[in-house]
Amino acid sequence: MKLNIGVVGVGAIGQDHIRRFVQVLQNCQVVAMSDISTENLDKVNKSLNLNAKTYSDGHELIRSKDVNAVVITSWDPTHEEYALAAINEGKYVFCEKPLAVTAEGCKKIIDAEMKQGKRLLQVGFMRPFDTGYRALKQVITEGQIGRPLILHAAHRNVTNTYTDESIAITNTLIHELDVHRWLLDDDYVSAQVVFPNKSSLAPGELKDPQLVIFKTAKGTIINVEVFANCQYGYDIQCEVVGEKGIAKLPDPSQIVMRKEAKFYIDILVDWKDRFIAAYDVELQAFIDNVISGKFTQGASAWDAYAAAVAADTCIKAQKSGVVESIVMPKMPDFYKK
Ligand code: NAP
Repeated sequence: MKLNIGVVGVGAIGQDHIRRFVQVLQNCQVVAMSDISTENLDKVNKSLNLNAKTYSDGHELIRSKDVNAVVITSWDPTHEEYALAAINEGKYVFCEKPLAVTAEGCKKIIDAEMKQGKRLLQVGFMRPFDTGYRALKQVITEGQIGRPLILHAAHRNVTNTYTDESIAITNTLIHELDVHRWLLDDDYVSAQVVFPNKSSLAPGELKDPQLVIFKTAKGTIINVEVFANCQYGYDIQCEVVGEKGIAKLPDPSQIVMRKEAKFYIDILVDWKDRFIAAYDVELQAFIDNVISGKFTQGASAWDAYAAAVAADTCIKAQKSGVVESIVMPKMPDFYKK
């Protein structure tokens, strides 16, 4: 069986995913694309020698009989309406993060998926498919460092255009919220946000960086630096301090240089390069989930909801400055793997 894919939103990641569907992945073809910019659609068809049908309205693509799986790669606030529409049509969905910008939005999608009576949707949290994160999880799960006590993490982007620090939560921190829950097999119980001095290089009034501190149900303390305009690179760091030792996410493998009285390795600047292999495995997992009829791999709508419940609380904590409780609802059996 070949999956007939329709892609909604062909910006940076939309184009990158279409490239992997066309050139890298098995058992799929891109039959349709939509974007508010029809210029982009023509460009993608031409550059990949594709002949996908183009739509200026994502809802028309979702209704098309030719499409059996919808891949949502448009801008964050549009995900909820497209995911809901696709599920209500009974279509399979791969939705880039965030599934919705609020927990309430994610809950609507959960309700719609449960009403259809089977899993239809996977969310674009790719880090659990990254070999470095997988190795880190294995070390923790095997008890090699003992009980995790503290997790230090940093999510640094070269620059960003957003000027509202709540977007740093829903768009950026959301990856950390998903991956740490998966890594520690735990849930969050509280969050606090602390702002150091604002970087003068951050746009407008954006308070950047910010430090987000969580406590988990098992008692681990997690601190995440979110620095949306760090200038120097795309740098993802994660270090787990356990009772018996420390385990650290490996940096991407790079050539070590000795040159002009310097000893150095390059730091990547583009998220597409940092997680290129993880995106491949993640999207192949989606195709395999659909073809096998069993969603055994990848993030579910419930995972996205859990991350969004924590994200909502972080936004509250940004404003209050105090420790805010996170109340995580109980996962329905429908989402148990
Ligand atoms: P982007 O380059 O701005 O692409 C978004 C595309 O969607 C643009 O072509 C945009 O058109 C189009 N669009 C906007 N509103 C639309 C609508 N209502 N219907 C259809 N298309 C619409 O952004 P991006 O970096 O590709 O990010 C896209 C999504 O992927 C975001 O939600 C982002 O959070 C997510 N993402 C995930 C990862 C990851 O690591 N998993 C990495 C990057 C991005 P215009 O340009 O004309 O507005």
